[in-house]
Amino acid sequence: MVSRRSLLNNLMMAAAGIAVSPNLVFAAGDKSKRIPWKNWSGSQVCYPEFRKAPASVEELQTLITSAKGKIRPVGAGHSFMPLVPTDDTILSLSRLSGVVSHDASKNQATIWAGTRLGDIGEPLAATGQALLNMPDIDEQTLAGALGTATHGTGENIGCMSSFVEGLQLVTASGDILECSRTQNPDIFHAARVNLGALGVVTQVTMQNTPKYRLKRETTWLPIEDILEQSESLASNNRNYEFYYIPFTGMGFTDVQNVTTEPVSATDKIDQNDGAEDLKLARDMLSWSPKLREFVLGTYMKTISKEVTIANSWQNYASERNVRFNEMEYHLPRENMVAAFKEIRATVENNFPEVFFPFEIRYIQGDDIWLSPFYGRETCSIAVHRFFQEDYKPLFAAVEPILQKFGGRPHWGKLNTMNAEQLKQHYPKWNEFDQVRRQLDPQGKFMNAYLETLFA
Ligand SMILES: Cc1cc2nc3c(=O)[nH]c(=O)nc-3n(C[C@H](O)[C@H](O)[C@H](O)COP(=O)(O)OP(=O)(O)OC[C@H]3O[C@@H](n4cnc5c(N)ncnc54)[C@H](O)[C@@H]3O)c2cc1C
Repeated sequence: MVSRRSLLNNLMMAAAGIAVSPNLVFAAGDKSKRIPWKNWSGSQVCYPEFRKAPASVEELQTLITSAKGKIRPVGAGHSFMPLVPTDDTILSLSRLSGVVSHDASKNQATIWAGTRLGDIGEPLAATGQALLNMPDIDEQTLAGALGTATHGTGENIGCMSSFVEGLQLVTASGDILECSRTQNPDIFHAARVNLGALGVVTQVTMQNTPKYRLKRETTWLPIEDILEQSESLASNNRNYEFYYIPFTGMGFTDVQNVTTEPVSATDKIDQNDGAEDLKLARDMLSWSPKLREFVLGTYMKTISKEVTIANSWQNYASERNVRFNEMEYHLPRENMVAAFKEIRATVENNFPEVFFPFEIRYIQGDDIWLSPFYGRETCSIAVHRFFQEDYKPLFAAVEPILQKFGGRPHWGKLNTMNAEQLKQHYPKWNEFDQVRRQLDPQGKFMNAYLETLFA
């Protein structure tokens, strides 16, 4: 029997009239004499003098008060923006990981901020709880995810920061500070999305839900059909997003709903094969866009609906090891279709080398001061470039469209918005900065990028 992937390979070999084996490079080599720190995509590099990973809050307090120069907290280094880089001290909470305590009556749990999202599911399930939602990978730390308003998808579900009930911070003075809606409320409103600019978050109390299982259904369709159904799919499913594969006219919808049906999968969905196939098609068929569209379109029409049933924490995230750089903006929901169409036309008329899908997600509005979802129902649109290729021309062409339609950038993803532009989008910008100055008057937690925003 011919598998779908071998069908695609055969189609491309036939179309190109040659036989080659794909030779994808996944990670850049280490070229520096000093040990550089790099983020996941390699778009950010720095040469920190110190890398610290305290094993206790007391050790962290001493580190903060005795450190010379700047300190930047780091999670898993999955942000594309220069939020972490400093040549002074990079500070990781990787040794402060795990569930600290839980409250069964409220479905809440307090979790060490250095815990990777992928390490939360099992121990939380042992208490009968699960996170309300998760992003599309689970490598991030909890504090790192909250720091940039990391989100999943679902019109009635906010970003992860909106599930936060309480936070513990160690500030520039080394003091431990607790905050919630009733205790230090201003700090709470600022700290739920904080860019690592207020101090080091050590513990987070999350509002969870009784543990649940999700049925995930992936359906390939012409993009016109997806756009037509998108609003009703968003309203009729707990989690809904769609992807568009540029230069094919095809995309797929991804919906998830709570189920009691038996588990069918425990492995993460592997999105690497798909990205490799799209790159291969681009490389081999670049001389004929029509043939590329035909080959990929033919292939995609053979893909039947895929269904996986798994525990919630195992069904949100997929494997994404084919590295890329990404731009994502969060738009007023009603502007998504018009923005999407303009971006599609721009990419397909000018950037034949693009092969990563566009990703479109729905996120509920919230009341968090620096949340890109502040006060409005949102659709996000994301575009990607392979990490070894120059992302700047593509992003420079797409960003004005995203801005024209009222978009606010994802704090962790590449964008060029400056402080003046950002202030127009954040009515509570000054309040955030006031809390920041109060907690860190000397700017110990600033770096070059953050200084452009807040200095
Ligand atoms: C492959 C991939 C897939 C992604 N998918 C999604 C997605 O589905 N949805 C989405 O919204 N985003 C997504 N992102 C973006 C990612 O979730 C965010 O950039 C997130 O902030 C990264 O978390 P991290 O743990 O790597 O933190 P880092 O990138 O290391 O840090 C992020 C911020 O948090 C701060 N920080 C870290 N730890 C602490 C701490 N203890 N105290 C105070 N501040 C701290 C840092 O200083 C920095 O400002 C994705 C990124 C990649 C590379």
